[in-house]
Amino acid sequence: MEKITLINKVELLWDNIDELRKLVERIDSIFKNFPEVFKETMLLATQVKELIIKIDPFVDIYSKKVCATCSNICCLNKNSRYEYDDLIYVLALREKFPLPPRNLKEKQPCYLLTKKGCKIPRYLRPLRCNWYFCKDLLEEMQTAHARVFREFSNTFNKMLYLRQQMLNSFFQLLSNLKSDI
Ligand code: SF4
Ligand code: SF4
Repeated sequence: MEKITLINKVELLWDNIDELRKLVERIDSIFKNFPEVFKETMLLATQVKELIIKIDPFVDIYSKKVCATCSNICCLNKNSRYEYDDLIYVLALREKFPLPPRNLKEKQPCYLLTKKGCKIPRYLRPLRCNWYFCKDLLEEMQTAHARVFREFSNTFNKMLYLRQQMLNSFFQLLSNLKSDI
């Protein structure tokens, strides 16, 4: 069971894709080999996904308005870097993790950016990307009806709360699993 004990909370760097790939494989093997043990984590990840899908149309309307004319596009590798927690979430969903094809440079355009925009759905993007609303975008979003904006804000906060529950569940179940073996 060495695979599990090898997992430590680390900051993921884009400059060593081979190490990142190995880490993805290790976390993936946990969910693959112990689906019953990590059922709760996977359920919570699905609930997080559903909440992101729920806020997607709201964010989309305003980002289409503002980002289309932006002269300082923020889709750079440094803003799209997945953290360890993001990996757990994506793999708990049993989705394929969008590994970069090569080592990345922070200041270059995000490897997931295409001419038509981001190539992955919002629910698969790293938290730091989904969490980022620049001043212009936020101001535009605040022009929404107060009730609509409040609903968005509440859903977003609920998503953050459930995401934390999902991570707590993962680490708790992981430590139970280790003590059982
Ligand atoms: S979020 Fe803000 S900084 Fe990023 S592309 Fe849109 S308008 Fe530009
Ligand atoms: S993940 Fe998508 S939205 Fe986020 S920075 Fe990259 S291209 Fe932009």
